[in-house]
Amino acid sequence: MNKPENVTLAGGKLQVPAFPIIPFIAGDGIGPEIWLAAKKVFDQAVTRVYGNSRKVIWQELLAGEVAFKETGHWLPEKTINSLKQHLVAIKGPLTTPIGQGHRSLNVALRQELDLFACVRPVAYFPGVPSPVKFPEKVAMTVFRENTEDIYAGIDFAAGTTGATELLELLTQQHQLAKVRFPKSSAFAIKPVSKEGSIRLVKAAIQYAIDYHLPRVTLVHKGNIMKQTEGSFKKWGYQAAAFFGNQVFTSEEFAKIKLKKGLAAANEAQTEAIKEKKIFVNDLIADNFFQQSLLHPEKFSVIATLNLNGDYISDALAAQVGGIGISPGANINYQSRQAIFEATHGTAPEFAGKNKLNPTSLILSGVMMFEYLGWQPVADLIRSVVKQALFKQHVTIDFARQLPTAVELSTSDFADYLVTLMQ
Ligand code: NAD
Repeated sequence: MNKPENVTLAGGKLQVPAFPIIPFIAGDGIGPEIWLAAKKVFDQAVTRVYGNSRKVIWQELLAGEVAFKETGHWLPEKTINSLKQHLVAIKGPLTTPIGQGHRSLNVALRQELDLFACVRPVAYFPGVPSPVKFPEKVAMTVFRENTEDIYAGIDFAAGTTGATELLELLTQQHQLAKVRFPKSSAFAIKPVSKEGSIRLVKAAIQYAIDYHLPRVTLVHKGNIMKQTEGSFKKWGYQAAAFFGNQVFTSEEFAKIKLKKGLAAANEAQTEAIKEKKIFVNDLIADNFFQQSLLHPEKFSVIATLNLNGDYISDALAAQVGGIGISPGANINYQSRQAIFEATHGTAPEFAGKNKLNPTSLILSGVMMFEYLGWQPVADLIRSVVKQALFKQHVTIDFARQLPTAVELSTSDFADYLVTLMQ
């Protein structure tokens, strides 16, 4: 029976029918053209692997400029409800509305659906132009906390009632002297909770276990922002404790070193590596930026707060060829709600030109098929992307850096991937 059905949840596990209904948001700017390219690749890969026995039933949802024109809302209630109902969805980039009271639609979606982990795997594909000497050493997955931090949107413009009341509170708390120019200061609040931190770090460690990755690094600015970022680090190690002897932490290392000396601590760590335990350590964010350029091979999974994660994801992506090929997903590992998405923006100056790279969305689809348990489909798509990039059949963003490349349009790149599947 070829009946379209919803993806559901039973016993904490996704139940994926043979003909799952998957909502998509094509997006704004270059969104529709990269979506068409990606969809072609997805459908062909499913057919190559499963013949007629499985097929994704795509269901379009409105968001962004199209939604605003048709309904007067940037993010209609109907779209949110449908995303909730279908659990797994994929989207192109959305314009951030300009003007008072409009947050980024992506931030709104992440908060509305409580998609607490922004997951960004960063890996190098041979042949891709890179600004660093050894891009093949970069293989990291960033787990960025998605719902808290300075991104929560609790902002007070200078001179408003909110800012004035906050100044009164700071006066009562004897903190006013720390505000250099009180009257003209704008403020933002940075909430970081124990639950939010622990669920994010747990998801990162579980990911390392599932994908047999050796290390999880908590990246923070706890040396300066002690109560927020410092607590993230503390709660991160508490999250590690949930995994018992599946992990070995730098805190354990330090304790052994203090009691029995460095040699004993090194020995314990070597033993832990032999037993395939995950090593959990932490690093101050500025040091991480330096180390990730100098010694990227030292890192595998990164767990970090929202703002750090935003910077880190794009900086790492730049090392392996840029945001045009970096995939991403926003996931709640408890409810299993997930939205897979291109990590770049709408690139409005290229809209309708059929020129830019659809690989970010295509590789986000690879993540989605892995999440759905359709691993052979994910493997097939990843392998043809790898071949195309190696053969330098690429879109303009790479072609202009590679003198011998064959430059393809967005749609021709998709057709080329389909040809490679034959
Ligand atoms: P952008 O990512 O849209 O574009 C910046 C530059 O990156 C482009 O000029 C282009 O050179 C390059 N680029 C982007 N996508 C590419 C692709 N697929 N292939 C090759 N090169 C690519 O960033 P922006 O111009 O700062 O933002 C434009 C709009 O997109 C804004 O409204 C912004 O808020 C929004 N935005 C949305 C998302 C999202 O939906 N996830 C993310 C970032 C920005």
